[in-house]
Amino acid sequence: MRAVDLIIKKREGGRLTFQELEYMVRGFVEGEIPDYQMSSFLMAAFLRGLNYEETKYLTLAMIKSGDLLDLKDIPGIKVDKHSTGGVGDKTTLVLVPLVAAAGLKVVKMSGRALGHTGGTLDKLESIPGFRTDLSLDEMKRAASSIGAVLAGQTENLVPADKKIYALRDVTGTVDSLPLIASSIMSKKIAGGADRIVLDVKVGSGGFLPFVDRARALGELMAALGSEFRRKTVIVISSMEQPLGLAVGNAQEVKEAISTLKGKGPSDLVELCLVLGGEMLAAAGVAASPEEGRKSLEKLLEQGAGLAKMREIITAQGGSPEVLDNPDLLPRAAEQIEVQADKEGIVHWINAREIGWASLLLGAGRLRKDDKIDPAVGIVLRKKMGDAVAVGEPIAELHVNRRDNLAEVKERVKKSFVIGQDSPQLPPLIHDIVF
Ligand code: URA
Repeated sequence: MRAVDLIIKKREGGRLTFQELEYMVRGFVEGEIPDYQMSSFLMAAFLRGLNYEETKYLTLAMIKSGDLLDLKDIPGIKVDKHSTGGVGDKTTLVLVPLVAAAGLKVVKMSGRALGHTGGTLDKLESIPGFRTDLSLDEMKRAASSIGAVLAGQTENLVPADKKIYALRDVTGTVDSLPLIASSIMSKKIAGGADRIVLDVKVGSGGFLPFVDRARALGELMAALGSEFRRKTVIVISSMEQPLGLAVGNAQEVKEAISTLKGKGPSDLVELCLVLGGEMLAAAGVAASPEEGRKSLEKLLEQGAGLAKMREIITAQGGSPEVLDNPDLLPRAAEQIEVQADKEGIVHWINAREIGWASLLLGAGRLRKDDKIDPAVGIVLRKKMGDAVAVGEPIAELHVNRRDNLAEVKERVKKSFVIGQDSPQLPPLIHDIVF
């Protein structure tokens, strides 16, 4: 086989076999197929598409590029949760301790911030001492004893995705449904969970702007999940504005702590209860998602999620004191308000732009090895549907550098679309696909 023949076959709209896709994936991981050929292949796949069989074969080839984690020593049904990424999405920090408090076993492997979207590992690392680089044995021990672990991916989990995703990111080939589905599902399946709940984000802050494409992605991933005998539930949720109020690592941890104390913003709380209800039902711990939700509401009220978060932080070497005194989290030198220059009602907050503004303050990274500043970020003072007067603060910037402050302020101000009439607000949950 030759890579160039497979590139041409896909370019001409041909259908690739498992052997052909495995040849491309393996050759690329082993360094025999160079970046330029894989880039060309990815663009051919992006433009011509991959049918269901090809997507399944690609997912399998990616899984086979590394280790398949065996979580059998952890008693009970293991449930994983994943979000396609967004702005202000600190759901994992609330949801994982909460469902663990309900008796689920969760080995949650997360990623880092890239582009306008945040990453759970960076958020967790703003907790002094918190370790995310756990070995598989450490993860299994933590999940068995306290029910949950929040860590980075193990070194050899789907190495093909690490390499291919890095190329997709710089070759304009990210937003292809079969490529996204195979990327996400290969990691989830190799991660060893029995059940998977996926939060597919729709709107300016996610990858997919429209609900019908998100539903198509959801259906594709649910089908791949069943193919590999992992029951998969897809929740399609809105990322039309940032989730909650805080964007930026320590700020988001602070908001997650408030949420675990029962004082969270309503959209974040609602999303956690919906996803958590699905997780409990998928694991058979609750008779239905609605029953699951009710249990979680009770646990949240009793502070059981907060107590579980204390156990998780302690087990992973962090300072649990941040839960009692969130001011121990990294703090920026200055807080600067951004004010509205128009009166009216907030119709839209461009989540992607808020994500970029936060990145410009230092909270995110443009390249994988950029260093982030955990203290900086943006806290919204208004959400879609809120009334605003001229001169009223719409956001608060947490700043450690001033060189690009004018640009950041301008971007944040422009992200707020203020109109005169009452806007039609998008639902938080668009659909749930099995
Ligand atoms: N998240 C992933 O892990 N992969 C994609 O392709 C897109 C989002």
